[in-house]
Amino acid sequence: MSNTQIVWLRRDLRLADNPALYHAAKSGPVVCVYVLDDESAKHHAYGGASRWWLHHSLESLSNSLAQRHAKLILRRGDAVEELTKLAEEVGASTIHTNRHYEPWWRKAQKKLADRLDLQLHDGNFLMPPGSITTGTGGQYKIYTPFSRAMRTEFPPRDELPAPETLSSPSQWPASDELASWDLLPTKPDWAAGIAEFWQVGEVAAQDRMTWWLDHVDDYDDKRNFPSVDKVSRLSPHLHFGEISPIQIWHAFKHKRSDGWRTFEGELIWRDYAQNAICQFPDYATSNYREDFDRFAWRDPATDEAAAKDLQAWQQGRTGYPIVDAGMRQLWQTGWMHNRVRMITASFLIKHLLIDWREGEKWFWDCLCDADYASNATNWQWTAGTGVDSNMFSRIMAPLTQSEKFDAARYIREYVPELAKLEAPHIHDPDEFGRRPSGYPRKIIGHKAARERALSALKAMKDG
Ligand SMILES: Cc1cc2nc3c(=O)[nH]c(=O)nc-3n(C[C@H](O)[C@H](O)[C@H](O)COP(=O)(O)OP(=O)(O)OC[C@H]3O[C@@H](n4cnc5c(N)ncnc54)[C@H](O)[C@@H]3O)c2cc1C
Repeated sequence: MSNTQIVWLRRDLRLADNPALYHAAKSGPVVCVYVLDDESAKHHAYGGASRWWLHHSLESLSNSLAQRHAKLILRRGDAVEELTKLAEEVGASTIHTNRHYEPWWRKAQKKLADRLDLQLHDGNFLMPPGSITTGTGGQYKIYTPFSRAMRTEFPPRDELPAPETLSSPSQWPASDELASWDLLPTKPDWAAGIAEFWQVGEVAAQDRMTWWLDHVDDYDDKRNFPSVDKVSRLSPHLHFGEISPIQIWHAFKHKRSDGWRTFEGELIWRDYAQNAICQFPDYATSNYREDFDRFAWRDPATDEAAAKDLQAWQQGRTGYPIVDAGMRQLWQTGWMHNRVRMITASFLIKHLLIDWREGEKWFWDCLCDADYASNATNWQWTAGTGVDSNMFSRIMAPLTQSEKFDAARYIREYVPELAKLEAPHIHDPDEFGRRPSGYPRKIIGHKAARERALSALKAMKDG
């Protein structure tokens, strides 16, 4: 056995503040490996937009490692089997990795620990999930007490530097070619808008954080307005671990503004979502509130009208400009503003009466930041099927939201058919008789949708 250390990278594609890499580098020659394991994740294998991001992120990491005379080894298949083979090839007995909490990764970590010396590190969250407990040692289910308790535990751990040098093994093991994984779309190449919108990789994440340092103070006032660039857009960088929340926290900790405090609260939401999937591993696929298993959703698989409505929602052709702008932003850029995510999600669930899991799936495929925990937590929160008290009966009015959060510019940008309309007409062209011919009528009126949703809820409760 050599003292070669394997570093198994997953959603921690960075050199700085990477505990697994940091500790491995102190112990011997390092072999960094990424395994593309679609089988273990099954229905949550990476979707299209995430695969696009992954390609560029791996490319960027590989270049950074090359600058340190190291390589990123790429393997494809069942992660546990591939890592076991790799350990044999390089004569390593130790694998370092940062803990991940998706159910398939927890299983893989357990299996691997039975075979090899698996060193698990805490890398990707403000506090290790599971470590924030109630007075009686239990886990928090609700965000507000969780965040309060987490803040009393701050500061989070110190940030770790990137290893200055990485020593190489006597021989590099074989690696797949990144291009052979076909992570990028070709026919057709639908990712041009995504490529225009984002810079990918650790350096880009740091640059965006530096930009955000100058803008965070406005966050509290402006974060709900999709027409202005007043949110961090750090989510895909955080998701793929090109930057850690620890790095962000330490860069911002001297700020005193309400903007920073609110932003810190959003980073805590991210930790909270991980805690939720630790407690409820099936949170992305099962209602937490079991009474919703009886809810009479309109099922696109069996109901033609529901299938058409789902397609109109996915394509941004519902006749509700704010919903359509959001869904088109998602398709075009692989991202959607948080306020608009809430509006579009609520619309699918309550106006169209389609199961939140259809929306979860679509977002999973289209978001560059698609995250098992955050996506599930937010969909269940919006649907009122999750642990929170946010009830199904709180039905967002998209047209009111559009006016309140001044979405006119945002709509003009993503719905070109409406580009010539001014507020207030642009928020509801049907109502003002200003609907251009190429833009669809509202697929359902707000009042009718609301009544239908509330009577479905009543039927579930009565039944
Ligand atoms: C239906 C729905 C689905 C969502 N799916 C995802 C998802 O798959 N992945 C994802 O990262 N976020 C998801 N979110 C949360 C949120 O919309 C995004 O994190 C945010 O819009 C990303 O943009 P930003 O980086 O500018 O966020 P900022 O407002 O700048 O917030 C900073 C960071 O905090 C975290 N964060 C913010 N809001 C939330 C939240 N509500 N829950 C968890 N973390 C949060 C993110 O990591 C984000 O990058 C979803 C929200 C909704 C309503």
